[in-house]
Amino acid sequence: MELSANAKINLTLDILRRREDGYHDLQMVMQSVTLADALTLTPAQGEEGCAASNLHFLPTGGKNLTQMAAAAFRAAAGTGGEVDVSIQKHIPVCAGLAGGSADAAAVLRAMNALTGAGLSLARLAEIGARVGSDVPFCVLGGAALAEGRGERLTPLPCLPFCHIVICKPPFSVSTPQLFSRVNVRKIVRRPDTAGVIAALNAGDLTGVARRMYNVFEDVLDRRRYGEIASIKAALIDCGALGASMSGSGPSVFGLFPRLEDAQAAQERLLGSYRDVFLCAPAEKNV
Ligand code: ATP
Repeated sequence: MELSANAKINLTLDILRRREDGYHDLQMVMQSVTLADALTLTPAQGEEGCAASNLHFLPTGGKNLTQMAAAAFRAAAGTGGEVDVSIQKHIPVCAGLAGGSADAAAVLRAMNALTGAGLSLARLAEIGARVGSDVPFCVLGGAALAEGRGERLTPLPCLPFCHIVICKPPFSVSTPQLFSRVNVRKIVRRPDTAGVIAALNAGDLTGVARRMYNVFEDVLDRRRYGEIASIKAALIDCGALGASMSGSGPSVFGLFPRLEDAQAAQERLLGSYRDVFLCAPAEKNV
């Protein structure tokens, strides 16, 4: 079975509070995009399923998120065999684009179809929460407000059609380190989450783009902040209506109404960066 696993971007990312259990309560508006990994699922050749990909550093056994998803599905649905998963990664890894979660979500949906288990997307999302906090959103796709650790989802209308340029600079950002740097009471700038939701409901692309923000941008060290800021500036300079960092970074994206501008931005950024993608909003899964 051939599957496509869409990446996501964060139109907003806000941290509301640190919880007693050490996690943070988040509020994020997420949108899936057409940048996607291609997966092939086949019955396992050996006793246990494995995951092969074009990236040598990804785990191939039970630690690959696709195998974790298959195991979670079997445990919850009480059906389904071992599967081999072949992954053509197009979504950069550790980029704030939920690439691994997207792969896991695609496997949950595929196993549901292959076994005829007939679980609802909401139930699959629940199962996915055991694999990773972005998996429930990736199961649903489209646009949604994600709260809690990201598992409480309220579907929203998709971003109006536009062109999205995503640029991943070549450094990684440690998510636990970012969280440890956030002092919730001292967050100065926050996204206008309610405004973004209202703009999505009104189909107002400019309204969304102008209100986007990611509070993690404020706690990056000076060098990384400078690089993120310069990518955002390049995107805006080329005609993006707004630009922001996605998830815990380092990917930065811009929303463009005009294809020519998005292409010009991609070309300009490709002069300095290898991972620059041109994509569009993706519809919710059915
Ligand atoms: P998020 O936006 O959800 O924080 P991310 O883009 O920062 O995600 P991912 O690319 O999803 O990060 O992957 C993070 C980790 O998951 C990596 O350490 C990687 O080795 C591991 N991993 C396991 N399976 C996969 C997979 N199928 N694809 C990508 N990464 C995987």
